[in-house]
Amino acid sequence: MQTESSNILNPLELLKNSGIPKHLLYQSKIEVDHLLCPICLNILWKPVACGQDKCFQSYCEVCINKWIQDQAGDAVLQESLYSQSLIIAPDSGSGSQYSSQSSSFSEMPQQIQIETTQHNCPKCKRPFKKTSIPIIHNLLDSIQLSCIYEECTIKSRYEQFQKHIFQCLFRRINCSGCGLQQLQNELEQHENQCEQITIECTKCQNKMSRKQFQIHSIDDCVQNQFNNKDNQIDQLYKKIEELNQKNQYLEQKICKMLKGESFDTIHQFSFKTMFTQNYQFTGTQAIEAKLIHPSFNLQKQKNDFLHFYINHKVKTQAVQGIIWRMRIQTLKGNLLIGICSSLCHYSIDFIINKSGEIKRKEWNENKYKLLRKGNFTFSEGDNLTFQFMPLQQCLRIINENRHIVCRFEPTEIIEMGDSFFSFFSLENQGDSLIFI
Ligand SMILES: [Zn+2]
Ligand SMILES: [Zn+2]
Ligand SMILES: [Zn+2]
Ligand SMILES: [Zn+2]
Ligand SMILES: [Zn+2]
Repeated sequence: MQTESSNILNPLELLKNSGIPKHLLYQSKIEVDHLLCPICLNILWKPVACGQDKCFQSYCEVCINKWIQDQAGDAVLQESLYSQSLIIAPDSGSGSQYSSQSSSFSEMPQQIQIETTQHNCPKCKRPFKKTSIPIIHNLLDSIQLSCIYEECTIKSRYEQFQKHIFQCLFRRINCSGCGLQQLQNELEQHENQCEQITIECTKCQNKMSRKQFQIHSIDDCVQNQFNNKDNQIDQLYKKIEELNQKNQYLEQKICKMLKGESFDTIHQFSFKTMFTQNYQFTGTQAIEAKLIHPSFNLQKQKNDFLHFYINHKVKTQAVQGIIWRMRIQTLKGNLLIGICSSLCHYSIDFIINKSGEIKRKEWNENKYKLLRKGNFTFSEGDNLTFQFMPLQQCLRIINENRHIVCRFEPTEIIEMGDSFFSFFSLENQGDSLIFI
């Protein structure tokens, strides 16, 4: 009895795992045996029934779900269910479906073992088709139950049982400090006094138990305040250091740019390709990628491109964005630029062709539609600078040799997320780009 009462002290756990213990039945006009779950042997809780013809066995929803999930099954439980179903069965004549099945059960236990691994009704052994039997609900609603807390004298109807338990004055809740169970309506009072409850010192903001707080001296508090300030100062120093580094980087960059030198070096990026068989990296100082085979996908060769991924994630908080440069070595076809948000798993693909047309790939289609016609042109030998400016959510492409700028505005790259990576693609065999 002791273990049972400690078990039912947590009503949530109780009703999560099985039906309502039989001893809580206070009054019922009908024989309660008809309202028991054959799995937990308690009073049905949130019953669901097997919809198979001539079965209609009701189970607690949690019990049947657990039963179905339990792939291993349990032959012993099966046996107890079967002997029970034989007693309950209103028609135990030789023609009845389950009496013939249950006799086969006693003869062929191995077969049952196999069946328990399927999602079958424990009683009729056929697939469990969840259904609801209104009369079971009506019968259940006619019974009265005692409260699970012994001190409580309130009897509730079946439908009100759960609600009552949560509101019951005798409900126990664990104190978040000492962990001991308190009566629901005394919890607040207890927590206002409990020595193990965590409280925060309003002066030093340190968290401690009430017991520690009672011996929290002014000296300790002041010391804590100093420590907190020290931490804040440390963090500020770190921030200053970061800003100094950023500043230094920008100064160097401006110096180099004024001298006409390229600043960003290739080692800041890593390159990958989607169709690894189709390209070759050549050269040593600069990375040159060359398409050596036709398309990867023979069926849609025309639409396929060789993709160079630049796995450089850019945070939108970054001020300077990202810049890289490349020289067009050979380019018979178009230049394709993709921007992939790393949040969404799709990319926005653009084609820029030599005559300045900008096309965007149709959503979920392999078609490119003219977005606009600009004056951005390029040909072999041109150096292109790509500049992602996350704060302005725009991508700028500059043809250094021709002083033409092409800008993709936020409306054109709306899907750009917190971070993204980009790729370039080549269309034709022999085409190559050099990242400089
Ligand atoms: Zn049950
Ligand atoms: Zn069934
Ligand atoms: Zn109660
Ligand atoms: Zn406590
Ligand atoms: Zn303090």
